[in-house]
Amino acid sequence: MRDADLIQPETTRLAALKQLGEAFREVGIETAQRDARLLTLDAAGLTHAQLIQAPRERLGDQAAAKLREHVRRRLTREPVARILGEWEFWSLPFTLAPDVLVPRPDSETVVAAALLALKERRNASDGLRVLDLGTGSGCLLVALLTELKGATGVGVDLAPQAVETARFNAARNGVADRAEFTESDWAQAITGQFDLVVSNPPYIANAVIEGLEPEVKQHDPRLALAGGPDGLDAYRAIAQALPGILAPDGVVALEIGSDQAESVPAIYRAAGYAVEGPFADFGARPRAIVLRRT
Ligand code: GLN
Repeated sequence: MRDADLIQPETTRLAALKQLGEAFREVGIETAQRDARLLTLDAAGLTHAQLIQAPRERLGDQAAAKLREHVRRRLTREPVARILGEWEFWSLPFTLAPDVLVPRPDSETVVAAALLALKERRNASDGLRVLDLGTGSGCLLVALLTELKGATGVGVDLAPQAVETARFNAARNGVADRAEFTESDWAQAITGQFDLVVSNPPYIANAVIEGLEPEVKQHDPRLALAGGPDGLDAYRAIAQALPGILAPDGVVALEIGSDQAESVPAIYRAAGYAVEGPFADFGARPRAIVLRRT
């Protein structure tokens, strides 16, 4: 079904699910059946409950046309998230753009680690200031602001389109009045001190990028992935920026690559920080660390 010809207006929802699943499996997509379901639901404008209540309804002209286009894109290994134009993170919806990384469930580890590190201050979050370095879609900052009701935050990114997208997502999730977004090369354009600094920086060693799956290599922005020759450039840049932006009793929560549980902490210990973690992601891999001044 390479050209999605089998999807016709007369095709039932159930038949579409089956055909898509098979087509995706054939090209080696691991999440074939999930992708088939998400794309069918979107094309037909259905909730999951509606689909299982009436699986034998026909797609009709509009849904069939939309689904054919979805399938065509997915078969070129464009991620489902980008086809849908939005993705969920911390149970919140985030609009995507070409210049932002698709939010990963693994990055929720950073949010959880940050909230844990702040636990005694969390209830009294009034006046707490949060900074997100390389905010992308804004997912880390927006998720944190929905949890820390009295906090305000600043999100920075080098990519103007990311700044715009993050601002949009803050509004979409009801925290626009407590969030500011600005273009900045790490903390260069930032003044003031923050109680919490978070970041999911680019941490893939440049040479490794070519070997990543097409969904990442071809569709995630290079700027959000490439961490330099050893994957650690961003951590060194953040270490340099921290003295100027971290409040004396502030905490830092950073995402790390699963193979960086030694190398990243070493950078921050050498710079005089106490390191907590690593905290594990849903795949039980090291994914986040927390830093405090010693
Ligand atoms: N977690 C992403 C991946 O493995 C990488 C994101 C990043 O470099 N921060 O594809």
